[in-house]
Amino acid sequence: MNFADSYRQSITDPQTYWANEAKLIDWHAPFSTVLDDSNPPFTKWFVGGKTNLCHNAVDRWVATQGDQPALIAVSSETEDGQLHEKIYTFAELQAEIERTAAIMLSLGVAKGDRVLIYMPMIAEAIFAMLACARIGAIHSVVFGGFASNSLATRIDDAKPALIVSADAGSRNGKAIAYKPLLDEAIKLARHKPAHVLLVDRRLVPMTMIAGRDADYAALRRQYIDAQVPITWLDSNDTSYILYTSGTTGKPKGVQRDVGGYAVALASSMKHIFCGKPGETYFATSDIGWVVGHSYIVYGPLIAGMATVMYEGLPIRPDAGVWWSIVEKYKVTRMFSAPTAVRVLKKQPPEYMKKHDTSSLKALYLAGEPLDETTSQWIASALGVPIIDNYWQTETGWPILSIAKGIEDKPTRLGSPGVPMAGYKVKILNESTGAVCGANEKGVVVLEGPLPPGCMQTIYGDDDRFVKTYWSNFSNEQVYSTFDWGIRDADGYYFILGRTDDVINVAGHRLGTREIEESISSHPNVSEVAVVGIEDKMKGQVAVAFVIPKNADAAATPESRRALEAEVMAIVDKQLGAVARPSRVHFVTLLPKTRSGKLLRRSIQAICEGRDPGDLTTIEDPMSLEQIRAALAG
Ligand code: AMP
Repeated sequence: MNFADSYRQSITDPQTYWANEAKLIDWHAPFSTVLDDSNPPFTKWFVGGKTNLCHNAVDRWVATQGDQPALIAVSSETEDGQLHEKIYTFAELQAEIERTAAIMLSLGVAKGDRVLIYMPMIAEAIFAMLACARIGAIHSVVFGGFASNSLATRIDDAKPALIVSADAGSRNGKAIAYKPLLDEAIKLARHKPAHVLLVDRRLVPMTMIAGRDADYAALRRQYIDAQVPITWLDSNDTSYILYTSGTTGKPKGVQRDVGGYAVALASSMKHIFCGKPGETYFATSDIGWVVGHSYIVYGPLIAGMATVMYEGLPIRPDAGVWWSIVEKYKVTRMFSAPTAVRVLKKQPPEYMKKHDTSSLKALYLAGEPLDETTSQWIASALGVPIIDNYWQTETGWPILSIAKGIEDKPTRLGSPGVPMAGYKVKILNESTGAVCGANEKGVVVLEGPLPPGCMQTIYGDDDRFVKTYWSNFSNEQVYSTFDWGIRDADGYYFILGRTDDVINVAGHRLGTREIEESISSHPNVSEVAVVGIEDKMKGQVAVAFVIPKNADAAATPESRRALEAEVMAIVDKQLGAVARPSRVHFVTLLPKTRSGKLLRRSIQAICEGRDPGDLTTIEDPMSLEQIRAALAG
């Protein structure tokens, strides 16, 4: 079947299409209904079916390829920067998961309980995720780069029975203590987890809290021979929650199911990523992001592939480190982000040639717009197709791409491609809701029902799910991606950035409101506006404009520098360095409408040297001059 026919079937006859795809995974009990769409926008897939993500990722491969590599954990975060590697076969991975699952059960974790995982990129993090899946606990992985306040909000929302963490992460060979941030977060949070399980990497000393904190290594020894059977789950049970930033300061817990997610991943691994059992897959993301969930942990393993988990920078010990991994483990499919490629492009070109990368068949890039220069550079350096793919935490797998596993359709520079199975993509005019013509800019929306694997709801808040995503157009109920886009005459889509206050820094999604709230907690900040502005390396960076309470505090260049450093430090402490603005400018007025709404789009336009747009509602045009002056100064 060619792609057009296959896609058409997924839209006109989703029951048949997805029933076929569902054969890619194991079911403990068959489903009775493929799709229940009786209560839109809530969708249920594979109703009545029983399955398990851990079984499909690990156990089912043990019989046929138990002695083959499943997890290849590589770290360059060692003292000398030399690679430390540890390989777990499917059988060994299963044993580690059973040990971790037994520990969780011994700590009272039951099916449906939440387990928050705040971990560096170490194998134990994957054991913990898969152990949750095994026993039906709901994991919520929080990116290790986030700090106490971010963590505290997520603890209060997810109310975990257990938190799994470690003494420290490491960046560029320097330890970054996690435990004090975690202790501070638990202090800040209203919800107190009963237990904290800690992996001691011996990077920094840890103070254990008696009765609450447990040592992973000691418990692992105790449960070394543990056998923990799979808990069979309903297809629509919840597998995990993953928090993501939105328009408000409060992160949204994207909640996903079990069966739909497993089928979507198996299907995307086959048709988009073309992975085969026995091959090696390498995604350079972090388990704290959705790419890590779908394409470091679950996707490759569900496809019977070995997955590489890499802790470290792309340029340590040198800029050839990723290609050395590709060579050594004969990686066939690799997944990264445009920012990482731009970092490598700045390095001496010989690093691209030092290693034999001939095993590689394609490089997939996602997370932010892929510019033509970056795409062409890496394509010629590697000599393989570069496959852009566009999706979100909410969808869990690509909305737009090129399904090379079905048909070798050409890619088009600057475009992530065409809609994947089951995604009914449309471009709507922002104000009228009318469907845009070819090459006309509008909001990218998806018509329901969304395909398997997409979010079920916002954890604990069905109303917010409906209001946030499905209520942006009065004429029809469609899912808004909050991205601008266009569709060309041939049906290829182009993504043109966010319509909301979300920014994308080096492929990391951050809410400007969250950063503003953090900055506002500084005692000398009266008002603040944070916008994302274009950056050659990172795609976007956050820039803050602050009105100080006491103008004297920003009267001289020295005092401005000192206050800027303090503002940055507060963001580092509360949210993590990942959210730190690249610059903090000081003004006495911010551009607002007469009703007091911040004109963020105008500020952003001025920062990027563009026209600030429609200013008929602006309260005081002088405020724009202040932005210009602050940037010039
Ligand atoms: P996240 O949920 O963190 O994965 O961020 C999703 C957002 O990243 C999307 O809504 C887009 O704004 C952006 N994004 C992801 N992939 C692409 C891509 N291939 N091209 C352009 N933008 C992308």
